[in-house]
Amino acid sequence: MFPESMRVRKIIGNWKMYKTIAEAKAFVASLAFVAINNPIHIGLAVPFTMIASAAEAARGTLIAIGAQNMSDEAEGPYTGEVSCQMIKDAGASFVIIGHSERRRLFQETDFIINRKVIRAVNSNMQTVLCIGETLEEYNQGVTKEVLKKQIMENLQAVTVEQMKLITLAYEPVWAIGTGQSATAEIAEHTHQFCRELIANKWGKNIADHLVIQYGGSVKPENAGGLLDQIDIDGFLVGGASLSLDSFTKIIQSQQIKVS
Ligand code: PEP
Repeated sequence: MFPESMRVRKIIGNWKMYKTIAEAKAFVASLAFVAINNPIHIGLAVPFTMIASAAEAARGTLIAIGAQNMSDEAEGPYTGEVSCQMIKDAGASFVIIGHSERRRLFQETDFIINRKVIRAVNSNMQTVLCIGETLEEYNQGVTKEVLKKQIMENLQAVTVEQMKLITLAYEPVWAIGTGQSATAEIAEHTHQFCRELIANKWGKNIADHLVIQYGGSVKPENAGGLLDQIDIDGFLVGGASLSLDSFTKIIQSQQIKVS
């Protein structure tokens, strides 16, 4: 599944609760040309309502379409919920789980997030697990403790084989949507810490191949410096992924690294 010598960079846009179906189709059609020239994984995590049309527009291109959330239940009387099978059926090839907005605004606990992760990997779904500390935790100097708890609890009972379906997204909550990105040094230090934790629990091979994305106010201006870091393998991009121009520039900032 993974190339032996390197991690393939992965840049995913998280559209949150923005855009219409028509806008999604037009965006994917234009992004397809950018994807052709960039040998990395490019994904868009779109609202549920546009997964099917975006996936249809992305058919035959190198763009993966994913969901931003899913239920921890398989099916049943859960009004308003959307299952893993449903997003797969609509054309999603990956799902974001544990985004800080889900944790903070929708009270998703580490336990619920673990249930979702298990549900996703048991369905063979590529899973982007978001972790990250709040500003208060950062200021208290407990970032490592917070991340360790999230990694161990959110990935509890995930097997070595299933870890191949996981992408980790380190997203310091204080950097999301604030315009204030972590410095490349802080992000790299944290990514290294996460990779070591993964190596200790699931083995060096899994850790060496695990894609760890950085997320939090990534823009064309700071993308290159972040990608210069050995353990930063790509991005989860919020605001800047809504504009074709800025998302394209972020994708193009990695070209130097792959060649
Ligand atoms: C996000 O929501 O995952 C994110 C990283 O947002 P932004 O890029 O806008 O900070």
